[in-house]
Amino acid sequence: MTDKTGFSSAVIVAGGSGKRMGRPKQMLPLGGKPVLVRTVEAFKKASGVREIIVVTPPGNRAELNRYFADLIYADPGSTRLESVKNGFAKVSPAAGTVAVHDGARPLVNPAAIEACLQTAAREGAAVLAVPVKDTVKVCQNGAVEKTLDRSVLWAAQTPQCYRREILAESLEKFGAEKDATDESQLVEKLGVKVRVVPSDYKNNKITTPEDLVFAEALVDENVIYRTGFGFDLHRLEPGRKLFIGGVEIPHTKGFLGHSDGDLVLHALCDAILGALCAGEIGILFPPTDESIKGISSVTIAKKVLEIVRAHHAEIEHMDATIITEEPKMKPHYEAVRRSLSQVFEVPLERISFKSKSHEHVGEIGRGEAAMCQAVATLKIRSSL
Ligand code: MG
Repeated sequence: MTDKTGFSSAVIVAGGSGKRMGRPKQMLPLGGKPVLVRTVEAFKKASGVREIIVVTPPGNRAELNRYFADLIYADPGSTRLESVKNGFAKVSPAAGTVAVHDGARPLVNPAAIEACLQTAAREGAAVLAVPVKDTVKVCQNGAVEKTLDRSVLWAAQTPQCYRREILAESLEKFGAEKDATDESQLVEKLGVKVRVVPSDYKNNKITTPEDLVFAEALVDENVIYRTGFGFDLHRLEPGRKLFIGGVEIPHTKGFLGHSDGDLVLHALCDAILGALCAGEIGILFPPTDESIKGISSVTIAKKVLEIVRAHHAEIEHMDATIITEEPKMKPHYEAVRRSLSQVFEVPLERISFKSKSHEHVGEIGRGEAAMCQAVATLKIRSSL
C-alpha cells in the first residue's frame, strides 16, 4: 500500500467448529503444518499487510504462537458475520484497507492478496473470484427451474478487501443480517461497486475431507529428506537403574551418566539433530550443568522434538542398534519400540530397534559398558 492509503490489516476468520470435517478444519495438518498456519503465512508474505487479526477459539492459539509472535486474536461469534465484527473491532484505526479472509483458504496466493488490497484502496471494495466452471441450475423440489448464464457467473473467494471506513459502515448498518455468507453482500447494499479481481482455483476453501486431499497435492513446497547419524557409549555400574529407549529394564546394573544415561535416546537424539545440522545434545544439555543432573533422557528427547518442529520437519524413520552383552535385549524389543514411538511421537511402523552382542570382546564384551548407533531420516519442508 502507498502512504496515501495507509497500511493494510488482515482479519482471518477461523472460528468454525468443523461440523463437516469432524475436527476443526483450520487446525488439521496440511503438508506438515496446520491449515491456519499456512493461511497466516500467505498474509505474512503479502506486502503492505502490517497486522494480522486471527478470529479463532482460545484453544487454537498456543499452536499458532509456536509459529508467529505478533498475531492479534479475537473470539469467534456464533455466525461468520459476528466473527468478522469481532475481528474488525481489533483493526487499528490507522489501517487504510482491511482484508477479510477465510482461515480455511490456505493456498491463497500472496500476489493475489496484494492485487485485491490495491484494487480496494483505489476503488473502495474488491473480492477475489474465479469464473464458475460448472453450469449452474436453479432447482426447487428436486427439479430444475432455470439455467443461469454461466458467462456472467463468478464464484467469490476471499480475501475480500475494503477501505476500512466502507467495511465499518456496512457492518454497522447491515451487521445484524444473520444469513450473509460474505461481507461483500453488505457492501453491495451500501451501493459501493465491488470490483472482481481474478484469482485461481487453488484458493479453494477446505470444507470437506477431499478438499484437504487436493490441497495436500497443491502445497507449493520443496520436500527434502536428510539422514543423521548418532552414537553413544555409557559405562554400566552396579546399583543404578537401567533405562533403554525410555523403558526401565530390571537389571543389576545401570548406565552411568550426567542424565539417566539412556544411550539409545541419546544416540537417536544426536541422529535427529545431525539430520537437521543442528548440533548435538551435549550443547543443549551440557554435562557441566549441575541443574540438570539426573535428568530423564525423555526430557532431552522432547527438547529435540521441539527443534524438529521449529525446522518444519518430521521424523520419517529411525533405526537404533544397541551393542551390549547384558541384559539380553530381544525380550524388550517391542517395549522399547513402543516407548520410542511415544517419546518421539512417531508411528510404531517407522521405528526399528535391535541389538548386537560384542562377542565378549573388550569392555563391552565384559559387560562394563554398552554403546548405541542410530540413524534418523527426517522429512524437511521448506517454502519455495
Ligand atoms: Mg549419553
